[in-house]
Amino acid sequence: MKTVAAVMYEHHQPVVVEELDLDGPRDGEVLVEMKAAGVCHSDYSVVTGTIFHDEPTVLGHEGAGIVVEVGPGVRSVKVGQRVMLAFISACGKCFQCTRGRPSICEMQWKGAPPGTMFDGSCRFYKGRQRFCHMSRVGCMSQYTVVSENAVIPFDGAAQFEQAALIGCSVMTGVGAVVNTAKVEFGSSVAVIGTGGTGINVIQGAVMAGATKIIAVDINDERLGWATQFGATHTVNNRDGEAVERVLALTQSVGVDYAFEAIGKSATIEQAFRMLGFGGTAVVIGIAGKHEKVSLPAVMFPAGERRIVGSMYGSSQMCNDMPRLLELYRANRLKLDELVSRNYKLSQINEAFEDLKSGQGMRGVILFDD
Ligand SMILES: [Zn+2]
Ligand SMILES: [Zn+2]
Repeated sequence: MKTVAAVMYEHHQPVVVEELDLDGPRDGEVLVEMKAAGVCHSDYSVVTGTIFHDEPTVLGHEGAGIVVEVGPGVRSVKVGQRVMLAFISACGKCFQCTRGRPSICEMQWKGAPPGTMFDGSCRFYKGRQRFCHMSRVGCMSQYTVVSENAVIPFDGAAQFEQAALIGCSVMTGVGAVVNTAKVEFGSSVAVIGTGGTGINVIQGAVMAGATKIIAVDINDERLGWATQFGATHTVNNRDGEAVERVLALTQSVGVDYAFEAIGKSATIEQAFRMLGFGGTAVVIGIAGKHEKVSLPAVMFPAGERRIVGSMYGSSQMCNDMPRLLELYRANRLKLDELVSRNYKLSQINEAFEDLKSGQGMRGVILFDD
């Protein structure tokens, strides 16, 4: 069949929106007609090559749509089912999946190369050229084929735009609080980096009952958003003095939890150094391959401080993502407020320009417009 997709042909070059051919779903795969796709910093990182995928790649890793065809052996979804997409296609069979940790499914690093289906092939093509699916998803396309394990069914109203957002930053941010850190009520929390993910860490901290939520960023506009989403204090880190400021806001005690949602060594170090006794630093930001951190070693035993990583909010995507949609429907999770602008697929380069200039919180591509 034919589809129109946003393609990264060459790093650092404009994305090309064009017609491609798409093979139907094979064993364990489904064909999804996309309704909404979020424009995330990770998409742009594929354009720049920071997140490496072979060229050419169909972009898009957070989206929602309707299943229009299922391949052989698919049992968990039917044609007509509304689904949100997970950017990790957990295999369900490896050691990590079977011990209940699908967000670190071993197929991410053991299986087929990134951007291909589990069998190592791709479904997008034009003539003899094959196109990778970003994160085995590739949802910046009218239609895409994904593993059955990457689609999470949802019922009720057709809230595709909101469901699309849950698939990335919302699950990552809220999950880091409730699943990875297990923040207790009454805790003090600092969040370094209040972009799409950090804002959702703040939402998670509010839900968990944290009483002090300190947002740290270098951008005053983003700190303003952080306040709207529940931060109780803000710290501008432009001068790199976030640790001192956070200590001052906690009577020199330090925070119980510090979340780093940027992926830079300097801010990861700050997250650890602003912890109080018994504190935990959670690294969510994805740093470059060669980035290294240097931490005061004595602070580990003295005060039993910990530092841990969090991938995709340590989530069980099949359970957690529909629950987040329920929280939204119960007015306990803000999703509409996250969307700053809608785009058509043809406006993808404009969406990336807005993203780069830090305009707005989240752009979402709508396919029906
Ligand atoms: Zn994303
Ligand atoms: Zn697995």
